[in-house]
Amino acid sequence: MSIAVQGVSKYYGDQKALDNVSFEVKTGEIVGFIGPNGAGKSTMMKIITGFIPASSGKVIVNGLPVEADNLEVKKQIGYLPENNPLYPEMYVREYLGFVASVYKSHLPGKIQTDNIIELTGLAPEQNKKIGSLSKGFRQRVGLAQALIHNPAVLILDEATTGLDPNQIVEIRNLIKEAGKEKTVMLSTHVMQEVEAICDRVIIIDKGIIVANEEKSKIYSIIKRPRQLIEVEFDKDITESSLDGIPNVSTVRNIRSNLWVIEAEGNEDIRPSIFNFAVKNNLTVLSLQKKENNLEEVFRQLTNG
Ligand code: ADP
Ligand code: MG
Repeated sequence: MSIAVQGVSKYYGDQKALDNVSFEVKTGEIVGFIGPNGAGKSTMMKIITGFIPASSGKVIVNGLPVEADNLEVKKQIGYLPENNPLYPEMYVREYLGFVASVYKSHLPGKIQTDNIIELTGLAPEQNKKIGSLSKGFRQRVGLAQALIHNPAVLILDEATTGLDPNQIVEIRNLIKEAGKEKTVMLSTHVMQEVEAICDRVIIIDKGIIVANEEKSKIYSIIKRPRQLIEVEFDKDITESSLDGIPNVSTVRNIRSNLWVIEAEGNEDIRPSIFNFAVKNNLTVLSLQKKENNLEEVFRQLTNG
């Protein structure tokens, strides 16, 4: 077990940010920690990395209890904080050299700045000021500082937030690459991120863990069975006429004659859609069942 969180609660004054949170992350896993803004993700990550204390409960990383000033724990963890605070006036290589020097005396022989610069694709930028880099490259610098002491556990808080689509793909690939040899916990409010890189997903809402499942099993925990059917007819119809199909809860018009029909329950509504078409003298041009995606699971679990 790489990370064990046991009954952690956190109060900021009277406000409860985490409510008796427990979960584990196995060695080598890439876990997505997902929840809406204010759910408690960053708070949980700051507690795991030892930056702030829990109000109660405990965290164990690689067998070591996380406590203030526990240097042994800090050696095990690489942390990319949310909004990635960096020194804009420092040069990339200078900054990473500075981070390395902090660890060097504690981890002799383990710091390989050149390798990390290579791995994170920073070689062409290493003599530029951090402040002059694009957001994507600044995130690479953040990842490089998290990786520089070759930690066993990586904690990444919203690593791809604010990046453009190309940068997102690049950073995800970097995380996947780094994750081959490490245990990774990454927070995000984007479901695609979890679908793209994670093995497991932990969903948090208002300081409470609402789901903790392998990615492949997460779909089976949806409480309310639902079906989404996309159907295209050959002619115009009114929205209200579709309400006549049994079990339909909502309908949405995508474009001209293309509709998405949402139905409650497990009974396949496709035959009813065909009957509806026949009765109304319509031809069905296409009919497709859409899978529930993680976004949907998330929405249901967090009522978001
Ligand atoms: P997330 O990262 O999921 O968006 P946070 O952990 O940042 O959530 O915040 C959880 C809750 O705790 C929010 O309601 C937030 O306003 C509150 N909070 C976070 N940090 C502090 C702080 N330093 N002081 C007071 N309240 C805070
Ligand atoms: Mg946060």
